Amino acid sequence: MPTQAPRFRPPGWRPPEPWATSKGKSRQQRGYDAGHDEMRKRVLIEEPWCRECLRTGVAPPRRTTVADHIHNRAEGGGNIRENYQGLCDPHSKAKTARESARARRRNRSDSE
Ligand SMILES: [Zn+2]
Repeated sequence: MPTQAPRFRPPGWRPPEPWATSKGKSRQQRGYDAGHDEMRKRVLIEEPWCRECLRTGVAPPRRTTVADHIHNRAEGGGNIRENYQGLCDPHSKAKTARESARARRRNRSDSE
């Protein structure tokens, strides 16, 4: 005899990601919901060249590979077009590193 009633889930159902339900680690990963893929495609089309490369005068500018949240979700940024920018891989990684350092400082002061 089964010990548990069968559970039916709607198509596409997935268990919540750990970062969606728990506070703390990987906050910056939030915000990658269903709308993000669509927004990413749009940003890559509208901004084929990395915005940061153009801003800082990298020549030649690199191709956009990442749809970046200008203000990341952990810092209150929204999933609206105005909060997205196209970035190349190196500039995206550099920005993520800066944000992670900020988040670590913030988490530390939160718990004090
Ligand atoms: Zn760049």
